Amino acid sequence: MHRRTSSPARWAGAAFGLIAAGGLLAAAVPAAAEPAAKKLFGTQKTSAALSARSIGSYARGCLAGGQSLPVSGPAWEAMKLQRNRNWGHPLLIKFLQRFATDLQEKDGWPGLLIGDMAQPRGGPMLGGHKSHQSGLDADIWYKPKPARAMTRKERADSWSIKLAEVYGKQVIKKNWKPEYVTLLKRVVSYRETARIFVHPAVKRALCDAAGEDRAWLRKVRPWWSHNYHFHLRLKCPAGVAGCVNQKPPPAGDGCGPQLTDWMKKLAAAEKWSKTKKKDPAKKAPKRRELRMADLPPACRSVLDADAGSLPRRTQSGPIPKRAAVPPLVRPAAAKTTTDPNLPWLRGIAAPAPKRPAQIPPPERKPR
Ligand SMILES: [Zn+2]
Repeated sequence: MHRRTSSPARWAGAAFGLIAAGGLLAAAVPAAAEPAAKKLFGTQKTSAALSARSIGSYARGCLAGGQSLPVSGPAWEAMKLQRNRNWGHPLLIKFLQRFATDLQEKDGWPGLLIGDMAQPRGGPMLGGHKSHQSGLDADIWYKPKPARAMTRKERADSWSIKLAEVYGKQVIKKNWKPEYVTLLKRVVSYRETARIFVHPAVKRALCDAAGEDRAWLRKVRPWWSHNYHFHLRLKCPAGVAGCVNQKPPPAGDGCGPQLTDWMKKLAAAEKWSKTKKKDPAKKAPKRRELRMADLPPACRSVLDADAGSLPRRTQSGPIPKRAAVPPLVRPAAAKTTTDPNLPWLRGIAAPAPKRPAQIPPPERKPR
């Protein structure tokens, strides 16, 4: 009779069996059961406590060791803080600060309002962007910074300046200023800038304004829905393994047939939008949502990493006398929820307003 033993070999066999069964189980779970990657990354409130690394590509990637842009600086303000998307690779944070300061000092620009960058751990977002995943993209508003620090409410409620209609072939004359040429020429002048995305009508206005010096126009690429802001994209930082650059833009200034094509695309899209309104069934097919398996495997470690930093709320640079750090108001949603996903609010939310002191009862007349 075969006598059962508890030899190491047998334990190893059992362990192998378990692992194999686990593997089979995992394989049996359909991919659709796994939550969309945007749900995993879109609920992260802190950076991943790892060394800084942009992982994957701009539209399929994530961010380790992200930093947040200080919400106020001498030459910039971070907007829409309630979205918690003012994060990036340290290279992007430094770049934005340098770019904003150069604009102020060299070009006389009042400074920048900076919109969406990346989430604390990058990755796909719950809404709004296909890219901005690896911590190297930033949306910059066309509205210049006011000459003072903004309150959190102002950052939440403000809107930028519209330079073109969604399907417009020309910029809106009353809003366009030659200063925009200076702004956009400056941002593509840096070695770190891979390209910027602007509305096709803005590209056209730049092509018309450029004159002899046209090499800088190569990095200015037309794209959809960039009528209130432009989108800055940096190259992968040198020596970062696993960071995937986009193919460089095609040679030339992009003002010829490429721009003509864009004007045709705008016209076709406008026509489509009108038929879609008449017949709601004619919606564009939904994009397949990214799952973890679509992202580089290192993004799993980014999700699993310990909590790094919370969003910064301090000013950087000289603190203006009047404003100091504006009180941070708890987003409306947080008032009604005990959502464990919002523990970061504890650190930064303004203290609950004190109840007004009880009105003392009317004094009795001395007897
Ligand atoms: Zn963008």
